[in-house]
Amino acid sequence: MEKLLKDLNPQQKEAVLYFDSPLLILAGAGSGKTRVITYKIAYMVKVLNFRPERILAITFTNKAAKEMKERVEALLGSSAPVFVSTFHSFCVRILRSYGEEVGIDRNFIIVDTDDKKRVLKEVIKDLNLDSELYFPNTVSSLISNVKNGLYSAESMISHYPKLSEIYNLYNERLNKLSALDFDDLLLKGKELLAVSKVKERLSDYFQYVLIDEYQDTNKVQYEIAKALTYEKGNICAVGDEDQCIYTWRGANIDNILSFEKDFKSAKVIKLEKNYRCTKTILEAANSVISNNRLRKGKELYTDNPEGEMIRLYRGENEVDEAIFIAQTIKLLLKKGVSPKDIAVFYRTNSLSRVIEDVLRKEGIAYQIVGGLKFYERKEVKDVLAYLRLLIFDRDEISLMRILNVPKRGLGAKTQELLKGLLDRGLGTLEALRELQELLKQEKQKKAVKELLENLEFLREKLEELPSYDFLSLLVKSVGYEEFLRNEFPEDWESRLENVRELGNTLQELLEKDGLKGRELYTEFLSTVALSSDQDSMKEEEKVVLMTVHASKGLEFPVVFVAGLEEGIFPHARSTDTSSEVEEERRLFYVAVTRAKRLLTLSYARERRLFGSRRLSRPSRFISEIPSHLIKEVKKRTRLQSEKGTQPQTLEPKEKRPRLVYHQKFGKGVVKRVEGDKITAFFANYGQKTILRKFLKILS
Ligand code: ATP
Ligand code: MG
Repeated sequence: MEKLLKDLNPQQKEAVLYFDSPLLILAGAGSGKTRVITYKIAYMVKVLNFRPERILAITFTNKAAKEMKERVEALLGSSAPVFVSTFHSFCVRILRSYGEEVGIDRNFIIVDTDDKKRVLKEVIKDLNLDSELYFPNTVSSLISNVKNGLYSAESMISHYPKLSEIYNLYNERLNKLSALDFDDLLLKGKELLAVSKVKERLSDYFQYVLIDEYQDTNKVQYEIAKALTYEKGNICAVGDEDQCIYTWRGANIDNILSFEKDFKSAKVIKLEKNYRCTKTILEAANSVISNNRLRKGKELYTDNPEGEMIRLYRGENEVDEAIFIAQTIKLLLKKGVSPKDIAVFYRTNSLSRVIEDVLRKEGIAYQIVGGLKFYERKEVKDVLAYLRLLIFDRDEISLMRILNVPKRGLGAKTQELLKGLLDRGLGTLEALRELQELLKQEKQKKAVKELLENLEFLREKLEELPSYDFLSLLVKSVGYEEFLRNEFPEDWESRLENVRELGNTLQELLEKDGLKGRELYTEFLSTVALSSDQDSMKEEEKVVLMTVHASKGLEFPVVFVAGLEEGIFPHARSTDTSSEVEEERRLFYVAVTRAKRLLTLSYARERRLFGSRRLSRPSRFISEIPSHLIKEVKKRTRLQSEKGTQPQTLEPKEKRPRLVYHQKFGKGVVKRVEGDKITAFFANYGQKTILRKFLKILS
């Protein structure tokens, strides 16, 4: 165990060993906050003999949860079922166990952003409101803000007179569907913890609670943590007020301040040594953030080397900027930097397109974290809707989604009819049965009958078949594959692959947690609904592109921050008040402090925005970095894409295999080649990734 503590500095060690009262660790970026949590858990299990499943650790994303679990296990040298999750998934867990205490059906469905908009659209239509003013996206975030306690629906009367009505009808609808949206999960979770017997049970059960990224918890989350630990004071929260970047989602710096007030005799430990960045990068970060007034104030130092100067590139326009980035990445790769050690950040998703275009042209492999998520793709959502319908009897949203997908001749009129039946309170299957009776056309009657039979058939098979096979059966029996083939002649194959990928994910979950049948699907559907941008990041040998928001908690040896212009970063929407600018500055601070060794900033003199070309000014944040730390750079050579010749790929051109043979799986069509791994599609086994040496290349 001494070995474990040896990896920590004295303050970190103190934080790991301290259990006398509630503990708050306030410290800057890269100072080892997440590391302290991880080591503290390991210490509790190994030395203090805590039962791992009775330790609750809260992280900001599912990806962070997974990593933390893996790290703890690595430290312990054995698997440990520590309860690591986000606030949202924690609430799902407790609501599935004790939901009825607050009137929630254990089989509640989770309404994701997309479903939420669908329901809102209907509500807005049913209330006969102007959908221009009551734009679903806007209303969706207004409702979120109301639920997060940022303001009340009534207080919005001057801007949105009907918001209260929308709010009430929307909640009514969700209620009827036994559905909870993301904000409800937290609200109901909090409500549940106000029921004394549940609170006693859970706060008894969890011997210790740890929270990472504490600066970005909102009021409701804070209340949840408090309910669990207030009496025993068995809590450790770590955060950095300079990295609070989610105030628009209700995160509240006050939570940091209230901690010391609410939790009696709380101890505060500061960590001041940064282990991540070079001196140059850290000095830049320190000096940028010192411009904020709303902070507790702390200075980080590091023993790391001086490192390279921060590079700054001024592009003629956004394409020129992207070319510079691609060119520099190419040079780095040539020098042996691994692609996954390079990240490109931007303020908003829309900035990624130009960068992507150039990277693609240059043959640089990249992955986009966030953007249109896997689970948001149409084909994936369709199949999930079927699955949801099989698991949750009252999932009307899913029923409406699939009623005419694949096309069954059940158009708008039939949908209205069905909606009427559902509004009468019938369950989904009942409503379908009734619908079958009501319909006049034979063809439609038959279509509904078939759908019903299919759903019943699938419900039976659900418990029987392994999940991958079950999903294949589902896709086949409802005619979804044929539908894709007909509707999307250009890319039906890749869409079908996405559907198969779902099967793989299920299989993985099954192997990991040993779940099956309904339990497996319920767990799976919750995971899917709660996946965040960062969760889409994979362990791949590819350059990573993402928004600054998604980069929270991560670190990369090489970081590019693009689009550093006034109006973009800081964002035009956030330059009115000083507190908005301060939030943008914190965001910039987060971006800068992700970099371990090399930081490159760039901006364009001119950019196409909203269709027209505009001259832009460099971001104010650039000038907040002391000039002796910055070196202006130019592009070196012209890139292939500028010369208009064939783009060069990184690896020497080699004929790409197209058809392969595997002893067990038979012939397969090659989809991807990555290093020595080949991903191919086999007729009877679906997609597999296999080492080249196990395959015979046929063509
Ligand atoms: P952020 O604010 O960005 O979330 P953090 O405070 O959580 O950062 P960590 O991610 O825990 O910081 O640590 C930053 C890096 O420094 C990691 O690579 C970590 O392994 C390393 N590190 C932290 N403490 C030590 C230490 N005592 N000795 C060696 N490396 C350390
Ligand atoms: Mg961290």
